[in-house]
Amino acid sequence: MAVEVRVLKEAAVGERRVAATPETVGKLVAAGARVALQAGAGSAAGFTDQAYRDAGARIDDALAEADLVLCVQAPPVALIEQLRPGTVLVGSLHPDADPARAAALRAGELRVFPLERLPRTTRAQSMDVLSSQAGMAGYKATLIAAQLAPRFFPMLTTAAGTIRPSRVLVVGAGVAGLQAIATAKRLGAQVEGFDVRPETREQIESLGGKFLDLGVSAAGEGGYARALTEEERAEQQRRLAEHLRSVDVVICTAAVPGRPAPKIIGAAMVAGMRPGSVIVDLAAETGGNCEATRPGETFQVDGVTVAGPLDLASMGAVHASEMYARNVFNFVALFLKDAALAFDWDDELLAKTVWPERPADAAAPTA
Ligand code: NAD
Repeated sequence: MAVEVRVLKEAAVGERRVAATPETVGKLVAAGARVALQAGAGSAAGFTDQAYRDAGARIDDALAEADLVLCVQAPPVALIEQLRPGTVLVGSLHPDADPARAAALRAGELRVFPLERLPRTTRAQSMDVLSSQAGMAGYKATLIAAQLAPRFFPMLTTAAGTIRPSRVLVVGAGVAGLQAIATAKRLGAQVEGFDVRPETREQIESLGGKFLDLGVSAAGEGGYARALTEEERAEQQRRLAEHLRSVDVVICTAAVPGRPAPKIIGAAMVAGMRPGSVIVDLAAETGGNCEATRPGETFQVDGVTVAGPLDLASMGAVHASEMYARNVFNFVALFLKDAALAFDWDDELLAKTVWPERPADAAAPTA
């Protein structure tokens, strides 16, 4: 019997992405799945029901028959409760972020794969939704900053005189930060970036940015940053406060896995910036890198515009969905084989991603 795959129409307010595109539906069908999408699942991302039908899918809202359910954000509890025990659920599920959701997932005896838990290894790169979506977020954050700024980004020589280029500082040079640097550079700004991982210097410079050295180096485990000590934080803030007086735009992307966003820009530092400056804080979702940030809001304080957008990847829904859907397909291909679902629990990508722990039918872990 073919594997029944269902693709959800996202329920979260403002979410425009979809977990499968006509391209990946074609691949799922070729791998032996029968695919159905909830009506209008892809419409906000520009993929019509007809395009999915042409790729071999049905449009069908019923979920009871599903073996495998694909989504972007976690579905509402009422929907989770419709799934039969053993159904495999794949998406950016953040199960522990909501106790009611976690309880429903456990009670439903679902096999849950929150893709944000995927180990960030070389083999997992093609499945890494955090990276693919952060790239879009960094890009959009820069465009929002350019839109909010009362200045040009590029240098212009005009009959009315020369306009100096905007000075853009990107805080944190991970996936989102590097894309923000590349985008600001393409718009003609003078771009600086800083990060506490020393290897980012070369990455920032390779994009044409300047590395801002604040005298703090804090590489942690697994290629991530560690949290700063109080002394390191004070030093970083002292040097940064001085520097911010000459910056026109700040794009904040600093993050430490599993922790609230590091607070890097204090209220007094914002007050010290020139009127007309702009801060776009991508880390708003986890509290913001800037003390003034209010998640989801754009407002002015001391003449500085502060934006904390929450749905940046969704703003680029077409390409964000294309990348997300390929990530999802590549992950599903780990266990959709010969038109059946088969889980190799010795595969660390499956064993480390499944939530809350290895299921009862899994063999004992190998070393
Ligand atoms: P990442 O882990 O790839 O990069 C974070 C970077 O911050 C790392 O390079 C790290 O070294 C650096 N960092 C940590 N502490 C620092 C400090 N004190 N000073 C300077 N740099 C520091 O993460 P990412 O995928 O680029 O995502 C960045 C942020 O954007 C995350 O908070 C993520 O949740 C957020 N995000 C927001 C949206 C949105 O719509 N708002 C969308 C996608 C991602």
